[in-house]
Amino acid sequence: MDGRVEQLQEKLRQLLKETAEVSAEIQRIDGSQAEVPHYSQIEDAAHATGQELSRMIQQSRVREVALAARPQAACPTCGDVCEVAHPRRSIQSIDGPVETLEPKAHCPRCRRDFFPSTGSTGAR
Ligand SMILES: [Zn+2]
Repeated sequence: MDGRVEQLQEKLRQLLKETAEVSAEIQRIDGSQAEVPHYSQIEDAAHATGQELSRMIQQSRVREVALAARPQAACPTCGDVCEVAHPRRSIQSIDGPVETLEPKAHCPRCRRDFFPSTGSTGAR
């Protein structure tokens, strides 16, 4: 793993630079701004791109964490080991809605659902 983080950070810098150039070009040509736009228009459009990137990162990470969770979990009521499924769920993040997977188990004995890893990701 030595050097891998640095390699990925350099790749990220390059991709973000390219993303910034593409986002700026869209602002320039999509007709949403005057030839000399107010700074707030430039800032709002840039922020929207940042929020979209944030939602994509969140979705990717939360899915990774959800899918890495154990395939079975003990029922908090009776202790029986139950299968864990991953139904889709929308989380409201500070940057807007994020579609993700939420580990969810069902205990046939207790006839109840429980959420084995909700606490581990802090997702509400
Ligand atoms: Zn149970």
